Formats: sequence, C-alpha cells, structure tokens
Amino acid sequence: MEFTDRVLKCIDCGAEFIFTAGEQLFFHDKQFTNDPKRCKQCKAKRASSSGRARTETRTTCSECGTATTVPFKPTQGRPVLCRSCFQKQPGKASASGAKPEILYPATAALSPTREPGGGGLDPS
Ligand SMILES: [Zn+2]
Ligand SMILES: [Zn+2]
Repeated sequence: MEFTDRVLKCIDCGAEFIFTAGEQLFFHDKQFTNDPKRCKQCKAKRASSSGRARTETRTTCSECGTATTVPFKPTQGRPVLCRSCFQKQPGKASASGAKPEILYPATAALSPTREPGGGGLDPS
C-alpha cells in the first residue's frame, strides 16, 4: 500500500501539519483508524501538561504543624509528616493502625498517576 504525505488541521491550534507517509504507514501497521488530530507542538503540550505536571499540595505537618508543600496528593484523614518529623519516626508507624503518608517518599509512594502514552504517535 502506498502512502503520500497529507496535510491535516490541528483541532487545538488550527495549524496545518503534515501527516507523513511514514506516520500513515505506522498508523496502518497499528491498525489505527483515526487520523491524528493535533500537531506535534500541541501533542507535546498535552503530554507535558497531563503527564509530568507537578502536584504541589499545600498542607501542614500533622506532627509539628509546620506549613509545607508535598509533591503528592495527601489522602484525607492520613497524617502527613514533614521531613524532620518523618526522620524522628521510630520506624514502627503502623502500630497505631494509621500509616503516615510521608513527605519526600523514597520511590513508590509518589503519585500513582501513570504517565500516558509515552509521547509517541497517538490516534486520538
Ligand atoms: Zn496544534
Ligand atoms: Zn513536622
């Protein structure tokens, strides 16, 4: 099957962009039936705004009351500790039942939101 470059219009900014033969071939391979709707810039913009946006939530340490911001969304009712209070923790936090949601989590405690797509060609 032969493909030729096509000019499409971005639904976000209205700019015309090229849907290249190579991209069409890629879509064809993936059996995507929809044409791309956004130019590369708008696609990149969407990816960066939905994916990597920092969640900075203002909160106060439930131990010492210090106002702070945390890089994740604290769960309602869960204690949030500032860094110094977290370091003071004896390490058996679950004894009371409520596991504190820590500040500056090592790895896994960060936002569970997955990164969408990966910025590749996406049919929607
Ligand atoms: Zn655009
Ligand atoms: Zn504190």
